[in-house]
Amino acid sequence: MKKRICLIHTGGTIGMVKGENGYLPKEGYLENVLETISDLKSPEMPDFDFYEMSPLLDSSNMAVDDWNRIGEEIAKRYNSYDGFVILHGTDTMAYTAAALSFMLENSNKPVILTGSQIPLCEIRSDGVDNIITSLLIAGSGRINEVCLYFGGRLLRGNRATKMSADGLLAFDSPNCPRLAEAGITIRYLPYTKPEIDTDKEFSLCKLENVPIGVLKVFPGISFPIFDKLMTEKLKGIVLETFGAGNIPGEGDSLLPIIKKAFSAGSLITVCSQCPQGTVSLGAYATSSPLKEAGAISGYDMTTEAAVAKLYYLFSKGYSTSEIKALMEENLRSELTK
Ligand code: ASP
Repeated sequence: MKKRICLIHTGGTIGMVKGENGYLPKEGYLENVLETISDLKSPEMPDFDFYEMSPLLDSSNMAVDDWNRIGEEIAKRYNSYDGFVILHGTDTMAYTAAALSFMLENSNKPVILTGSQIPLCEIRSDGVDNIITSLLIAGSGRINEVCLYFGGRLLRGNRATKMSADGLLAFDSPNCPRLAEAGITIRYLPYTKPEIDTDKEFSLCKLENVPIGVLKVFPGISFPIFDKLMTEKLKGIVLETFGAGNIPGEGDSLLPIIKKAFSAGSLITVCSQCPQGTVSLGAYATSSPLKEAGAISGYDMTTEAAVAKLYYLFSKGYSTSEIKALMEENLRSELTK
């Protein structure tokens, strides 16, 4: 039997048109364009319904409420479809993919985010293949998690990151093997599917707009300048460190700030500025202070996944110590210890 997929349009370059000040989304436009793509009507394609969200957004403008709106659209239709393809802007697609991987609890259906670097209204648009292949993958019955498909690569959603601002192979997941590669054929690579507790029903966990910050260290960073940020208002901080979790100054100037942050109830998660590899707190004298101060190791999580996970765990209402422990646990295949 043919699979039935719901194609949800949230905005992004794929459906944009040229405006006076650059590309912008246009309501009611994309459905007509899709009508002109004859491959979408091929008998090999799964059946699909198109749904356009309103307002359509450049994904740079997306925030937690928009992730909730997308989650709600999926949840409403969860039992009526075999899978979902989400058309989305590339700028924050990896954040949304990571967020949905946490929000869609006990989901065992494919949710594939895709978009394009070149709008469908222009020649050479990469949007045609991205939509067609995403629909084929969603209808294949081979995938049961939140993924991102782009430029021939199927990536685990919470492992993906945008690697190129203008290349057509815009995304990759340097810390997680690709789940499939689409060349002449779609080749599904062997991988461990996320474990799903079949006794539990699918549910949507909406996220709260908890105040979260991301701080990238750089040579010469003056930590005291950031002191004022560390109030009880800031619940979670993702610290993007050098290499395996190292910070300048052997922690001398950062330590008091971390201590202040902890006493104010903020959790500091250490991620690496390197796209590939893992944080290993204590491996160097330049990361030991973070370990001693009780910072959380983000291991090989992307910043996108760490941010989404913080939102998720705070929204679940866990205590600070529970969140601290769960941040270091593998919940949705988002990290390798
Ligand atoms: N600014 C656009 C967006 O993220 C970029 C894109 O879709 O490629 O919505």
